[in-house]
Amino acid sequence: MTHTAVDVGAEGASLGTGVNVSGLSKTFSLGRSSVVALDDTSLRTDRGSFLALLGPSGCGKSTILRILAGLETPTSGTALVDGQTPHELRRHHELGIAFQDHALLPWRSVAANIRLPFEVARIPADTAYVEELIDLVGLRGFEKAKPAQLSGGMRQRVSIARALVLKPSVLLLDEPFGALDDMTRQRLNLELLRIWTEKPATTLLVTHGITEAIFLSDQVAVMSPRPGRIKEVIDVALPRPRTPEMQRTPEFHAYVDHASELLFGAGGAATED
Ligand code: ADP
Ligand code: MG
Repeated sequence: MTHTAVDVGAEGASLGTGVNVSGLSKTFSLGRSSVVALDDTSLRTDRGSFLALLGPSGCGKSTILRILAGLETPTSGTALVDGQTPHELRRHHELGIAFQDHALLPWRSVAANIRLPFEVARIPADTAYVEELIDLVGLRGFEKAKPAQLSGGMRQRVSIARALVLKPSVLLLDEPFGALDDMTRQRLNLELLRIWTEKPATTLLVTHGITEAIFLSDQVAVMSPRPGRIKEVIDVALPRPRTPEMQRTPEFHAYVDHASELLFGAGGAATED
């Protein structure tokens, strides 16, 4: 089996390893049959870098994130971020996760859901930061609302705020903007960039938005269909800070075309949302 490990340029090497997935395999058993979700998948990034994972539905993207978050155990292989196991990351309160299926506590208000990680970590809540995040994700006026009183997009914004509240050094985001309208999505992308620029967390974002992946990331890893392997890692050499105008440059379009070709084949329609 071939490994598709990717090392980032030497200039970032002093920062140390961020995501370090090595020979990762995961087989799910379903009664008598089984599903090979990942087969010998490897991926490396620098500490504090932003990587987006793109790939066809069912190729194992969420499985990689769930393993890194300690929510699944791999069948074989290792998964570290910033040199720490998922268990260590959790113990050190260094992990921020926002998953699409990550439920909010229905009996708690928006503010109380965002505050929750402080209680789990048994550290005093930084209420000023909770308030700042409520503004940031555009939920001012809804801080006392319960999840059932919110739209799907608003609930996603609560879970993003909750992922950020401990200012984690590792961020795992699984299609966090999936259900949002374009304008909100663009605004939250810019806010995410701003937060990430202030304190660059080692970030792994699963998305099916090619434009979004390129706009945000240092690298975009494109996966093949299940069992997922890393087909190619695209180094996005666009300067930072990134601005929305950059999305209209030929250089940006060249990245989008390249990623689309990898995903859909040459000439394939970029059915982007
Ligand atoms: P993606 O996020 O890329 O869409 P997933 O990582 O969610 O893909 O799933 C990869 C494959 O593993 C799929 O075929 C999915 O059905 C299967 N799978 C994921 N989680 C489980 C599970 N808990 N039990 C059984 N099969 C699963
Ligand atoms: Mg998924």
